[in-house]
Amino acid sequence: MARLAFNFLNTILITILWANTYAFTLNNSVAASFDMEAQDEIAVNVADHGCTNIDLTNDQFLSIIEEAVDTFWNRVHTSSLRLKKGGVSNVSTDFQTGLICTNPGESSCSINPALSVSSGILISCNTTLSNFTNNSVLAVSVPNNVSNAVIRGALILINDDSGNTFNGLSRTEKVAVIAHEIGHAIGLGHTELEDNLMLFESIPTRNALGWDDIDGVTYLYPVEQPISGCGSISTDFSTKGPGGLLPTLLFGLILTFLLCSKKVRKGAPLFLTLFLVGIKKIFFFTL
Ligand SMILES: [Zn+2]
Repeated sequence: MARLAFNFLNTILITILWANTYAFTLNNSVAASFDMEAQDEIAVNVADHGCTNIDLTNDQFLSIIEEAVDTFWNRVHTSSLRLKKGGVSNVSTDFQTGLICTNPGESSCSINPALSVSSGILISCNTTLSNFTNNSVLAVSVPNNVSNAVIRGALILINDDSGNTFNGLSRTEKVAVIAHEIGHAIGLGHTELEDNLMLFESIPTRNALGWDDIDGVTYLYPVEQPISGCGSISTDFSTKGPGGLLPTLLFGLILTFLLCSKKVRKGAPLFLTLFLVGIKKIFFFTL
């Protein structure tokens, strides 16, 4: 009976170990991403025309952008993506009133070339409600300048209709919403897993990335490591997902060594799984 319980627990742990990997989605079929070898940082700019129905100056908007990139996406050590607060971009009024997709309301966006962003990420307030379908939608985002799976530019339109709900959000919520939209701009789609910034419902109360967000941005923007013939493992896990990674590994190691004792051999599957959990977390975040 005890062995059965151990095996059952082992199965549960193995399921947890692998089930949630790669639950993130991409917002395009070619895994497009910004080329981080060609540039050190991607600038996130705001359109100079400002907002009509949202009480934010361009400087306040840039401050929110800075907090969004520094609190969320720039904290992933396993990702090569680095974003920075940009500046005020002088753009056409099309960005304030035009359509981001020429077929609003349909699931697949036909990109409007008039709103193509030449480089980086542009955030623009937009007063045309059909971009958003209704006022429960806070913003829409799409990489709209993509060539050979490389994103040159991406556009984020903030719902600036007179009945918009963005204006009533707290600063913290605005930061989370902007960070979510930046997630789309860099190539990510939605996840169905809660506790992630890219949750499809876009609950604007996030204050950190979740496991899936980290998986996604690491997949699109891996850190290239030279082959040195000598592996290394970072001990800095402060921003690398939930759980104590190093303690888990050490715990698994100690218990695995205990397998040398016949007295605890019946626990082998459980101990081995704990060890694998630690190994999986370490390697997932460092390779
Ligand atoms: Zn979204």
